[in-house]
Amino acid sequence: MKLPLHWKIVIGMIAGLLFGFIMKNLEMKGIVVDWVKPFGTIFINLLKMIAVPLIVVSLIVGLSDLKDISKLSKLGGKTVLFYLISTVTAVSIGLVLANIIKPGSFINEVSRKSLLENFAGDAAQKIELAEKAKTSGPLQPLIDIVPDNFFKALSDNGSMLQVILFVILIGIGLILIEEQKSKPVVDFFKGLNDVIMKIIDIIMSAAPLGVFALMAALMVEIPDFSTLGALLVYALTVVFGLLLMTFVFYPTLLLTLAKVHPIRFFKAIAPAQLLAFSTSSSAATLPVTMECVTERVGVDEEVSSFVLPLGATVNMDGTSLYQAVAAIFIAQAMLPEPLDLQTQLMIIVTATLASIGSAAVPSAGMVMLVIVLGQAGIPEAGLALIFAIDRPLDMCRTVVNVTSDATVATLVAKSVGKLNEPENS
Ligand code: ASP
Repeated sequence: MKLPLHWKIVIGMIAGLLFGFIMKNLEMKGIVVDWVKPFGTIFINLLKMIAVPLIVVSLIVGLSDLKDISKLSKLGGKTVLFYLISTVTAVSIGLVLANIIKPGSFINEVSRKSLLENFAGDAAQKIELAEKAKTSGPLQPLIDIVPDNFFKALSDNGSMLQVILFVILIGIGLILIEEQKSKPVVDFFKGLNDVIMKIIDIIMSAAPLGVFALMAALMVEIPDFSTLGALLVYALTVVFGLLLMTFVFYPTLLLTLAKVHPIRFFKAIAPAQLLAFSTSSSAATLPVTMECVTERVGVDEEVSSFVLPLGATVNMDGTSLYQAVAAIFIAQAMLPEPLDLQTQLMIIVTATLASIGSAAVPSAGMVMLVIVLGQAGIPEAGLALIFAIDRPLDMCRTVVNVTSDATVATLVAKSVGKLNEPENS
């Protein structure tokens, strides 16, 4: 019997963790860093390499299939609405949990001091990165979406929104010109689309090995933190919130609005979730999310090619929930008075915007957290408190970010009548 891909990935992950653990204890970290980790990096590079071509080609094919501009604006409107609703729900869940559980009260003076001292340098680096984002004007994010050179945007993985904007214009152009002229262009991209999908299959066949290398490297590189115990309640609060989103909120939406059984859905997107966990990057996971959602959930490419790249960049429920919990946690640990209701409501707005502004790469959510803290008057140096536990939480929140994108793609597809029987489930 052929083992499904997601099981192979799970085995790769567990084997990688065990291997890393053994090598760490044998004091052979160097071997893992020099000889195993590079294969993880190569795997992530391969995924990123195919992400931009995939977005360009599949979005052109998807949009040209729409055949009507009004359908595009309907699709866009629904997508933005679903993304906003899910992100605001995530922040609110984070806020409520952090207020009920009060993770900040579990951290004693000794751990607080030692965390602040040990991670002051790391926190300062993130704060500096966030400073750059803060100094620009209020409309800068809008300016940033419009490229002055499409080819420059293509060559920068961080300019995904610029690429999407230009490709949408090409799609609109193709819809507006005579079919006789657009057909050869669309046919070319359809062929290329199949080629890219094949390349993704080939890359994914190396996934078990790639995640093995990533997990082994993670195991040897993660430092030992004696103070981690103090952060346990905080970490569990974040994880509990993420579990609520994954196993209560999304399944409810899927069942009620899309009539899709959550177990079938989770089975279909498991490879993308596992990859999100291993890479901590929604952008690197995007090619696999696209394949899972299109071929295994049954979302028409017209919808997935538009909703998913946009979601990878702007929709981050896991990140926004984490930012809310982290902000309240730091406030509880560092401020004499609890935050008032008005400030907490402000956090809903700032964490939503900060998650939209976070890049889909590892630890980006933590950089943008600095802005949330600043707006709420919480000391930014408090970032040092949560540094030690950030990587594992990043892995978990990235899974939720990807699950949310896939859920919204399914809901939007259902609402526009584009949810098909999957090709293979
Ligand atoms: N790593 C996350 C992602 O790529 C972003 C973050 O929260 O740091 O989705």
